[in-house]
Order: sequence, then structure tokens, then C-alpha cells
Amino acid sequence: MKNFKIFSVFVSLIVFSCISSDKSGHISTEIPSESLENFGIAIHGGAGTILKNQLSDSLELAYKSKLEEAIRQGHLLLKEGRSALEAVTATINILEDSPLFNAGKGAVFTNRGTNELDASIMDGATLNAGAVAGLTHVKNPINLAHKVMTQSEHVFLFGAGAEAFAATQDIEMVSTDYFYTKNRYNALLNMQTKETTKSALENKSPFFDPYIRASKFGTVGCVALDKNGNLAAGTSTGGMTNKRFDRIGDAPIIGAGTYANNATCAVSSTGWGEYFIRGVVAYDISALMEYKGLTVKEASELVIQEKILKLGGDGGVIAIDRHGNVSMSFNTPGMYRAHMDKEGQLEVAIYK
Ligand code: ASP
Repeated sequence: MKNFKIFSVFVSLIVFSCISSDKSGHISTEIPSESLENFGIAIHGGAGTILKNQLSDSLELAYKSKLEEAIRQGHLLLKEGRSALEAVTATINILEDSPLFNAGKGAVFTNRGTNELDASIMDGATLNAGAVAGLTHVKNPINLAHKVMTQSEHVFLFGAGAEAFAATQDIEMVSTDYFYTKNRYNALLNMQTKETTKSALENKSPFFDPYIRASKFGTVGCVALDKNGNLAAGTSTGGMTNKRFDRIGDAPIIGAGTYANNATCAVSSTGWGEYFIRGVVAYDISALMEYKGLTVKEASELVIQEKILKLGGDGGVIAIDRHGNVSMSFNTPGMYRAHMDKEGQLEVAIYK
């Protein structure tokens, strides 16, 4: 009998907490969002002139299956209740380890024939962030960005200094040869041949490269919402083929390539970095949601399809809001991308 009484009190408490009245006295039967255990994840593998007739069936399949492998890993972690940050790093690691994408193993070559890698990560719960640029020996740059965020008092470390910090952490270092891939090296040689045949003097700035428009980029990024309602975003890249003068793009720049805020959304960008820096793309999407009340879709479309296009830049973003709504907007013919919701519904796509 005593046990029954305790049981009924317990049941009433649960019912009362679910059917509560709001300030106006209106009875709401809405389940608090925390107990919905909503979660979701989206990834990109770069945007650019990716046309169906340029990709063989087998290459298209290879891209799609790597995207699927990566997103399934992140989704599994989220499903198990792990954090959005863990899902973002683990997912990006898979893409970094694949030669298909311009990040980690598949990083593009600089003008001097080296590979210089950039990455950044942001925690939407705390607005903590970590970023690294100009790495030449770090196998998974996103892991070092995460260490900068969690184990240092800084946000952004560069080059030799960043690698000296990596040596104090549990970070896998590799020789520079690790980043050599034949395809990426040939892309550099092609671009340099074109440069000498067309007058380089026509170029208005050292960064202006008429061929960049025609190249496939291939940066990788991931955004995630975990079961605790926390958002995170990460981006990792080799930058742009033939980059000079220690050029750094948007990928490691918080607010341009990566941004996350639990109040709004998590964003990862890919595309012509100079324009994404000038457009402060990732933060702009968040700000449009925060200050103007736009949805994640409206904000991403406005920034990518109007603002960046008007500036003359191309690329795209993946973004997820705190309810799990996802936007994958791009103004190029294609963007390697995938999305998986809490039900495990998977969408993998490349072309428009
Ligand atoms: N945004 C990168 C950069 O400019 C390139 C890319 O996304 O593919 O370095």
C-alpha cells in the first residue's frame, strides 16, 4: 500500500511537470525540448565547379560512400549521447584521412610545393573556439584546433608555433611526405602551367587567379546538434591550390569559416575564402538569426545566394539550428554534402 502511494505521487509529479500552465494560464502539454532528445548532423566536402560529366561513376560513388561513412560515425556518437564537439572532430577526422578531400591527407599544394593546413572549431555552448593555420606536420588539424580551444589560453595559433604547441599535446605528427598525393600535385602543375601561358601581369592582385573559379575546392566541415541541445561546428582545409605568401583563407577564421552559438546555429563554410572572410559569412548567418529573427535557411540563403554572390565570391555553407533544422546552401554547381537527422534519415548529394 505504502509503495502504491509513493508510486502515485511519482506519477502525478511526472504528469504535472508535462502539463504545466504558462504565464497566461494557458495549459500546455508540450514536452520540454530537452527531453525531446533532438539531434542532427550535416557535413560538407567542399563546393565548386563539380559537374556530373566531370566525375566518373566510380569517383562519384567513392565520394558518396566516404561522406556516408563520416556522417554515420558522427551520427552514432550523437545517438549514444556524446557531445556535438566529439561528433564534429570524429567526423572530420574521417574526411581528413581520405585523399578525396582537400583537408589532411588530400590537402592541396601551395605555390612552393608544400602543403599548409588550416582548421577551426567552435563550441556553441560556451562560445569557446580554437583555430590553427599553416600546419605542415599535423595529421588531423581539427584535433589541434580542438586542443587550442581546450588546452590553451589562446584561440588562434599559426605555423611553427602551433606545431610546437602540438608537440606538448597528444597530437599525431607526420612527415611532410604524408600529404603528397599525385592528383593534388598534378593540379598544382596544371595551374602553374596555365599561369605562365596566360600573362600573370594581367592579374590585379597577387591572389587573383582566374583558374581558381574552375577548380574544385574540397575543404571539409561538420556541424552538429547533440542531445543536450549543444551546437558545434568545425572546418578543416588545405586552402587553395597554388596559394602564395602564406595565404590563409576563411576556414580557420572564427566568424568566417566556422561559427557556433547555442542561441542560433552552427555553421561551416567552403568556397573562395577571401570572399567568405570579407563577408564574415558564418557569423553573419548567426547574426541574421539572432538580431533579425531569420530562420537558418533564410539566413544561409541570403548570405550565400545574395551577399557573397554580389561580392563576386562562390561557395556554400552547411548550417544547423538548435532545433535540428539544416540548411545546405551553395552558389556553385555542386557541393559535396550530407545530412542525417535524429531518425537516421540520410541525405547524401553532390550536384545542385
Ligand atoms: N575556403 C577555403 C579557402 O579559401 C577553400 C575551400 O573551401 O575549398 O582556403
